[in-house]
Amino acid sequence: MKLKEELKKSKMILKQGPFCATCQKTNKQEDDSKDKGGGQSIKNCSRCSVVKYCSKKCQREDYTNGHKEACAKIEKHKKEADDLTEKLKAVPVGNNKVENAFETRVGRFSEQMASSIGGKDFQPKEYLKAKFGLAQQIMALAEKHEDRDLYERLCRDLLEIKRLDHTDVLGVRSILPFVLLILGRDNDCYGFIKWHLSRDENYDWSNPPNASKGNPIILQFLI
Ligand SMILES: [Zn+2]
Ligand SMILES: [Zn+2]
Repeated sequence: MKLKEELKKSKMILKQGPFCATCQKTNKQEDDSKDKGGGQSIKNCSRCSVVKYCSKKCQREDYTNGHKEACAKIEKHKKEADDLTEKLKAVPVGNNKVENAFETRVGRFSEQMASSIGGKDFQPKEYLKAKFGLAQQIMALAEKHEDRDLYERLCRDLLEIKRLDHTDVLGVRSILPFVLLILGRDNDCYGFIKWHLSRDENYDWSNPPNASKGNPIILQFLI
């Protein structure tokens, strides 16, 4: 009985839907106060668009409480990823032709591109690093604000990184199971870990996982 109570206490309760990162007010509460003549709707942070605030006052308060640094990092990683997205969508491959790496190099993003096709400016691995840096910032914010929407976004971002790089050089596999557990997706977590652990030593990680033959559903997001 005691253990059960302890478990209950330790159960993570995530907040869902838009809420102010500073005062925790939700949109509904905002609407109610609007009826009484006050309030604005909950808006994204104007720089990073990741956390949300009910007012300029709450935004300023969170800024001085540490969001300023996180916000700048998010903005930097986002810009890096966006710049590289543009480039990787149109990699020059000779004869005035271009290649969209997001179509042609799925699963192989950690491989160096031959200097003959693109060279230094076209680094899919740098794109992965920017996306992973962004994911790490989102993870810290999801944890800080116990924000379900941010955990869900983190889950999607991590799956996308793993999909682009089947070999998983950045180690998505060591974070994803915890994120799935936090989201209450125990079966997906179990399926993912079981699948990972049951590869034999000759398994070619550069191949996409096979989602058909009794493999867990979570793998279908990686193909
Ligand atoms: Zn607020
Ligand atoms: Zn921000």
